[in-house]
Amino acid sequence: MRRRFNRLYVHVPFCASKCGYCAFYSIPRPEEALVNAWLDKLLREFSENAKKCAVLDSVFIGGGTPTLLSPERLSLLFEGISANFALSSNAEISTECNPETLMPEKADALANFANRVSLGVQSFDDGIRRMLERRGTPADFAEAVAILAERGIDNLGCDLIYAVPGEGMDVWRSDLSKAVESGVKHISCYSLTIEEGSRLQAKGGRPFNVKRPDSALELDAEMWETAGAILADAGIHRYEVSNHAIPGFECRHNLEIWHGDTYLGCGPAAASFDGADRWTNPANLADWLDGASPELDAITPERRAAELLVMGLRTTIGWSAANFTERTGFQFDFMECELARLADAGLLTVAADSVAPTRKGLALWDAIAETLIIRNTPGAS
Ligand code: SF4
Repeated sequence: MRRRFNRLYVHVPFCASKCGYCAFYSIPRPEEALVNAWLDKLLREFSENAKKCAVLDSVFIGGGTPTLLSPERLSLLFEGISANFALSSNAEISTECNPETLMPEKADALANFANRVSLGVQSFDDGIRRMLERRGTPADFAEAVAILAERGIDNLGCDLIYAVPGEGMDVWRSDLSKAVESGVKHISCYSLTIEEGSRLQAKGGRPFNVKRPDSALELDAEMWETAGAILADAGIHRYEVSNHAIPGFECRHNLEIWHGDTYLGCGPAAASFDGADRWTNPANLADWLDGASPELDAITPERRAAELLVMGLRTTIGWSAANFTERTGFQFDFMECELARLADAGLLTVAADSVAPTRKGLALWDAIAETLIIRNTPGAS
């Protein structure tokens, strides 16, 4: 069922350089003229779509590296959002930030608009950072945390990456401890995905589509378990397969999107969802500037509901029956057999009014996705 957009995502497609593992759409070292053209078009995209939005409950500015923008451009971006969209009084406004790009003037601009900042750390270990080709240093992260806290932004999170080639449990434990010690409220832990043809593959990494040895998969699983345990001990609990937060500091924007809420995506490569259809802007700045049409993800309503069911099952709370029906128009019984099979396998807890992953189900979420999505893929058996 089509609904107005409740959330806004803005894609800033620029970075200082390209990290060796990056699969996001971003342009390294952009020229000034290109950044200006992007901002002009973005502001037009805001005004063309504003009427399709309800009062926004969250805004997420991601990339790329939003904090590569100058303080003036950051302010223009924020003013553009404020001028075009109505925001709820307690709207969550998140910005991604690469610590080494954050100078006090940019932090001032962020503090005037955002109330949540997600810092890209990935690792505190010099060897791992070199392998990932990350700019900056752990000291930049500590400084960014201090700069933001001075300006009253204490809803901070950081991203970590594990299962980097050559990484052992000692390095991973140390990364988790340092993230906890920094005092951030939200920690995302992502298993490294090596894209085929990436520089990381050339350095000896095994691309995502090549089966890895059992010993590597066991280490991944152990690292995932260790993250949950160390962070829970610090009061930072897993609420989604890869995300952990002090209770009350979960990312509302993502939580609602995983549960089928609507969002408008602005900028190249940004996706939108109106409750029925999902579409993605061209992942090419020149095409997007030229007004090329978004790509529609044309699937049946049943398949859409299956995808949303699967996404909600990435979270520890899973789905209530009422919310699932409100967001998708379907009831759990459209998947009765598959849900029962996954419950028998110990991956889900299924009740009349809710379905949620077990601990084993969170660890083996791919198996849940496969079972529920294949059933709704024409031609699949
Ligand atoms: S900073 Fe992020 S978006 Fe930019 S190249 Fe690195 S991983 Fe990709």
